[in-house]
Amino acid sequence: MSCGNHHDTPCDEVLARVYTYLDGELDQGGCGEVRRHLDECGPCLREYGLEEAVKKLVNKSCGCEPAPEDLRTKVLGRIEQICGEIKTTGSERAETETA
Ligand SMILES: [Zn+2]
Repeated sequence: MSCGNHHDTPCDEVLARVYTYLDGELDQGGCGEVRRHLDECGPCLREYGLEEAVKKLVNKSCGCEPAPEDLRTKVLGRIEQICGEIKTTGSERAETETA
């Protein structure tokens, strides 16, 4: 499932990775990967109004500076919401296609 923009990794997967990364489960090795996905999926994130906040957070997390807790919580909540929306739209479309 993707947002209509072309990139190799589906949007919900990008968001899931960003979520895991921001949640602190990805190590430093995941940092570059997440950044690459963000570049790839930038237009979609912009559409969701997430691009600025996520990039700011990832940049801070990739450096030594800890990300601000309130911003992190806000972005994580927003990602959860968007993933839910993507999944809902995706399953509806899949049903239409198989019918
Ligand atoms: Zn996307």
